[in-house]
Amino acid sequence: MVMGPTHSMSGAALGLAMAAVIPASIGGPSTAVGAMTFAAVTAGAALLPDLDSPQATIARTFGFLSVGAAHITENAALAVYEVSRSDRDRDLHNGHRTATHTIWFAMLAGLLVGVLVAMFGKVPALVVLFLMLGLAVRGLFPEWSSKSDWLAITAVSAGAALAVGAWQPQMASAWALGMAVTVGVIAHLLGDALTKSGVPMLGGLVSINGKRWWDICPPGFMRIKANGVADKALLAVFTVLAVWLAYATLFDPSILGAPWPPALTTAAP
Ligand SMILES: [Zn+2]
Repeated sequence: MVMGPTHSMSGAALGLAMAAVIPASIGGPSTAVGAMTFAAVTAGAALLPDLDSPQATIARTFGFLSVGAAHITENAALAVYEVSRSDRDRDLHNGHRTATHTIWFAMLAGLLVGVLVAMFGKVPALVVLFLMLGLAVRGLFPEWSSKSDWLAITAVSAGAALAVGAWQPQMASAWALGMAVTVGVIAHLLGDALTKSGVPMLGGLVSINGKRWWDICPPGFMRIKANGVADKALLAVFTVLAVWLAYATLFDPSILGAPWPPALTTAAP
């Protein structure tokens, strides 16, 4: 089974790769630190779809508040399923892996963040940064997170959000945040599609053979068995990829085609 850390790490890797190619004119980062921030938000958003499961680790990120949010999300997802399903879709008793595991959710979440920040500015931007960075801490540093209290995670992510707001205002912009959230959710969907029995990426709107909720997954031989070994292997691959991308982002951005200068340039002899 793909666990939080794998989702977050794949989100970080995809975020770093996208940060290098999204033009600054539509919200892409224009500095190396901006790209790292973009990827941190993406790593957090890559856990967002599992907010539909109160049992998932993500639900414990902000203590009882996130557990409450998870119960609400699960019920809302089930309600969306019930409203949009056809007679041929199976009966479900909880909303896990339905509405929040669709492309529509990825686009809506990013759009909602973009609109809120565009309309109300700094406050929603800081709230989004705080929530996404908190999830990223939970996902990327599972050992530390499981030992420390949720209040510590909350404090760390609040500090990080304020730091970004103060020193990287470009990355707190509506477009940048909205796009990072969408990219993160898509990373989650790809991870689940590869390792579970698929996800209903186009669920609710596109109907095939009378079914509106059908799972998209790769052909059987490509599907990774849901077990600990495959998850650890994936985590290792994404970790190596993310570390390499982070190195390139900071020290050799030209190999990614990124527009910013290296964070550290060695003076010519
Ligand atoms: Zn999921």
